[in-house]
Amino acid sequence: MAEPRAYPLEKTRNFGIIAHIDAGKTTVSERILFYTGESHKIGEVHEGDTVTDWMEQERERGITITAAAITCFWNPTYRTSKTDETNKHQFNIIDTPGHIDFTIEVKRSLRVLDGAVVVFDGVAGVEPQSETNWRYADEQNVPRLCFINKLDRMGANFDRSYQSILDRLTKNAVRMQIPMGLEENFKGVIDLLAKKAYYFEGDKGKDIRQEEIPAEYLDEAKKYHAELVEKIVSNDEHLMEEYLAGNEIPVEKLKEILRAATLKVEIVPVFCGSALKNKGVQLVLDAVVDYLPSPLDVPPVEGVDMSGNDDTRETSDTAPFAALAFKLQTDPYVGQLVFFRVYSGTLEAGSYILNTRTGNKERVGRMVRLHANDREDVKVVHAGDIAATLGMKDVKTSDTLCDPEHPIILDPIEIMDPVVSMKIEPKTKADQEKMGMALKKLGDEDPTFRVSSDPETLETIISGMGELHLEIMLDRMKREFSVDATSGKPQVAYKETITGEAEAEGKHIKQSGGRGQYGHAVITLRPIKPEEEPVDGKAAKKAKNVKRSDGFEFVNSIKGGVIPNEYIPAVEKGIKEAMARGIVAGFPMTNISAELTFGSYHDVDSSEIAFKLAGSLAFQEAAKRAGPVLLEPIMNVEIIVPEKFMGDITGSVSSKRGMIDEIEDRPGGVKVIKAKVPLSEMFGYVTNLRSMTEGRGTFTMTPHEYAIVPKNVADTIVASRK
Ligand code: GDP
Repeated sequence: MAEPRAYPLEKTRNFGIIAHIDAGKTTVSERILFYTGESHKIGEVHEGDTVTDWMEQERERGITITAAAITCFWNPTYRTSKTDETNKHQFNIIDTPGHIDFTIEVKRSLRVLDGAVVVFDGVAGVEPQSETNWRYADEQNVPRLCFINKLDRMGANFDRSYQSILDRLTKNAVRMQIPMGLEENFKGVIDLLAKKAYYFEGDKGKDIRQEEIPAEYLDEAKKYHAELVEKIVSNDEHLMEEYLAGNEIPVEKLKEILRAATLKVEIVPVFCGSALKNKGVQLVLDAVVDYLPSPLDVPPVEGVDMSGNDDTRETSDTAPFAALAFKLQTDPYVGQLVFFRVYSGTLEAGSYILNTRTGNKERVGRMVRLHANDREDVKVVHAGDIAATLGMKDVKTSDTLCDPEHPIILDPIEIMDPVVSMKIEPKTKADQEKMGMALKKLGDEDPTFRVSSDPETLETIISGMGELHLEIMLDRMKREFSVDATSGKPQVAYKETITGEAEAEGKHIKQSGGRGQYGHAVITLRPIKPEEEPVDGKAAKKAKNVKRSDGFEFVNSIKGGVIPNEYIPAVEKGIKEAMARGIVAGFPMTNISAELTFGSYHDVDSSEIAFKLAGSLAFQEAAKRAGPVLLEPIMNVEIIVPEKFMGDITGSVSSKRGMIDEIEDRPGGVKVIKAKVPLSEMFGYVTNLRSMTEGRGTFTMTPHEYAIVPKNVADTIVASRK
């Protein structure tokens, strides 16, 4: 019998802390680990804001902050006595990044967490990256709490920050608290449901003192208490009637309805405090218990069975085991950790699991759970758990690990295509030897980081989600793998595709003297629309003769054995190789379906190589006839500038082939220009924008889609590649 679970599912919370960089995510996390009794030492973050600086800091902090998931335990402050454990919960805190160049990090964490605490800077309020991450969370319908942090800072303004959440993120936000004082007079918070004032004292504010609301805040507290109660009861008809009839509704009842509404994202409760000055964080942890979902509150996980039919797994210990590997991380002491979230079933150390991507069955040796300061060996994991295994081979981010008797492919983590690439060259022979391995490891960890080689020059090309992303990968290569490399200028990761249908024949036949060669294939190419782009999940469901992979579909329509089965994979391989070399300007091709319709073979002279070449030749010919075009990444760009620079900025966007979607007014005479602009036009825009706006403009950008490059621009790109 497996060990029973220490915490029932309903007392588990898998959540992430989402924040704009510098809003205080690290400080909040450290306080959480301290209060949950896991962290005994609170290190302060030093000033300094360059990226590497920040990485250094993370490194110095050790595993606590960078670990993909940390487990800790929380006994709410409202427990009846020190020994009351009835409400003690297990928290698995999932790491999320602040910077949007790491979209995969945001997506992967949103995929495995059930709820989130979104941290805001109480001076700046909602910042551009919080908006981006908020939208990602909306896409996944993640229940959220907000924490307006830094209320001790000069210029802090709770009302304004709260208003920015309402204006820019969601009308469903509602204040749960109001601050007592601000800036250096920030003393504590008033809980509008409990109608009490809270002060935080002692070492790192760990002693909480509850008092009556001071007279000076009574009116305000009354007003916002009413606002909160109205918002809550509007989610329940029966309570609404009670409320309108003037009846007092018990706090427990209000909390129950609030929980239900928060789970549906119909309410987003807003809390406040100062992590640095140790105020308010514990009450947010109480709220995690009270309002964020347990694994039982989220729908069963979806996926497909091995034939591509929809399948699901219930969140239950008795269902077949299914887990998603969501992050690979190298630990300096124990080697590679594979973090996984268990969606259903239980798994004991020593038993076997199936990786449905590779088809490999593997014995799971050691499993660990990470705490703030140590690593705990666990013998068994249950539904809803997050843990890591050690020593697993050939696992990649987004792989499903499951019961070999009940295979399932869970919906993968949404992975975006890289938009920026760069040539790199190892500095020395020794670097060269280690570089391949280092790049492979980094790519396994981060699927948005890809490695390829230039088909002509054989130089190594790395691609990723932004300049910063690539810089950090190079930096990691140096630090973690001691590989030194020089890099070229970042380039747009163009792609190619076809716009029409075409058929062509490829023949590789040499039959004069000696052993001959004979390969002959006829193929038809068709474009696949990006929205139909095959992914490993649902879209994979197809007829038996169709194989799909990223941006490519191969259809085998050979009848009557005109090409023997053994040579068909060679034709496919030849097509894929030709696709990787491109046809317009040497960029990899995508979104193409290739149907193999006819061919012929020779009993003696046919070989895999001959068919591979025939496949490549057929592809090249057909692609030329199928209206090949270049594709470029188009970015969602948001530029924030003081009003007086508006004209210059909109002009600059138009001159960059940009399309303005929307111009928004923000308080304080600030304009937000939302536009779609080709990435190639955005290199160097930081400097550009700074000089146009006396250093006051900022912008963010995230990938939107790949679109056809206009002819005149394409001609220039093609010419430059010649
Ligand atoms: P992250 O980038 O979101 O992880 O933010 P950090 O936790 O690293 O905090 C960024 C900076 O803000 C650091 O200098 C912190 O000391 C500071 N900070 C964090 N929380 C607070 C707070 O509540 N009040 C003040 N005044 N500063 C804070």
